Amino acid sequence: MKIYDIIIIGAGAAGLSAAATALIREKAVALIDMGNAPARKLSISGGGKCNFTNLAVSSSKYFGNNPNFVNGVINKISPQYFINWIEKHGLEFEKKSSGQYFCATNAKDIVSAMKNDARNADIILNSTVLDIEKNADIFYIKTKEKIFMSKSVIIATGGISYPALGVSDFGYKIAKKFGHKIIPIRPALCAISTKVFPSNLAGISLKVEINIENEKINDFMLITHFGIGGPVIYRTTARNIEKGFKINLLPDINIFEWLKNFKNTEGKKNLGNILSYKLPKRLAKWLSKDMQKNIADYKDIELKNLSKKISNIEISKDKFNLYNLQSAEVVRGGVSTEQISPKTMESKLCSGLFFTGEVLDITGDLGGFNIHWAFASGRIAGENA
Ligand SMILES: Cc1cc2nc3c(=O)[nH]c(=O)nc-3n(C[C@H](O)[C@H](O)[C@H](O)COP(=O)(O)OP(=O)(O)OC[C@H]3O[C@@H](n4cnc5c(N)ncnc54)[C@H](O)[C@@H]3O)c2cc1C
Repeated sequence: MKIYDIIIIGAGAAGLSAAATALIREKAVALIDMGNAPARKLSISGGGKCNFTNLAVSSSKYFGNNPNFVNGVINKISPQYFINWIEKHGLEFEKKSSGQYFCATNAKDIVSAMKNDARNADIILNSTVLDIEKNADIFYIKTKEKIFMSKSVIIATGGISYPALGVSDFGYKIAKKFGHKIIPIRPALCAISTKVFPSNLAGISLKVEINIENEKINDFMLITHFGIGGPVIYRTTARNIEKGFKINLLPDINIFEWLKNFKNTEGKKNLGNILSYKLPKRLAKWLSKDMQKNIADYKDIELKNLSKKISNIEISKDKFNLYNLQSAEVVRGGVSTEQISPKTMESKLCSGLFFTGEVLDITGDLGGFNIHWAFASGRIAGENA
């Protein structure tokens, strides 16, 4: 029976990227995937336009127990490297002022280019890997149908969010089997369910500032019927959210000073109306519900308390839940980077076993950082396996 040089489990962005660099080294490569098509997450990413990289790629945009783990990989496979690869494949792209790069046509075009790079590998679809054993330097990869053999294995099985696309926790299980530590998994880049805002405010979208762990994040928040979402909340959930966070609904002004100025100059104006100059009407009404008098009729301390209510909404740990693995774009947690070489992606516990992409305890911020990580770490694994 054929012994491959490398078998890659998972034909997502990381697995295909690993296959490409392994094939450049003229290795005999097989890619095994449980789904009926490669890179299903990438195909729908970025609303179908795949936000594939970001000029701001740096370890500060990655989260996990050791974000510095990414440094060697992203220094070698930079955003410019990825952009050059896109250009080389004749793909059109769009650059946003935020530094984000999207496919100008369709994410499926990036998938086609990745598949083309991996065309000389045996791609085995609809085949779920059930177990891996190592015996005398050969890996035995068991699927329901057959046993494959290889000298190296790359685990590129991704995360377990968005199960509708077909996901599995096999990567974590096999890592554990070979002695690796697993950092607990939770949804990330997702909405939050909370009762802090009543459901009749659903649909309101506004630019806010989130304060989490001494970091300020400014972006849009959407109030939903079950809680809050939008980019600022997605980004918050990638961070260490366990202790909660604070929301400032009017980050661009000193609210107390602004209200006091009205009190001094236009005291006959209704407080609720004043708030609606800066906030959506429904939100202004909710914030000022028992405060419908003219602004001059309020004591400074009352205005101060209202300012706090607007600028310092506390979402403490008992007030929210992450909403949920079904809809989260990625997960936090995964195979601990402690026992993986950052230079090669090889296990420090089992030679010939490699891990790449989202299966590792590396989570990127919203904005193209996750696909960049999958592509870049895949290349490194394929260069070294
Ligand atoms: C809706 C959505 C939108 C997103 N948009 C963006 C975006 O615009 N930009 C960005 O940077 N990130 C985005 N992401 C995140 C990004 O898509 C992922 O982080 C990235 O694709 C992960 O790549 P991967 O190769 O590590 O894993 P995956 O792409 O998940 O691939 C893993 C593969 O392993 C296979 N597999 C698992 N277990 C087994 C097994 N036992 N046997 C055989 N095969 C197995 C799976 O079938 C799958 O094909 C988005 C995610 C979602 C869900």
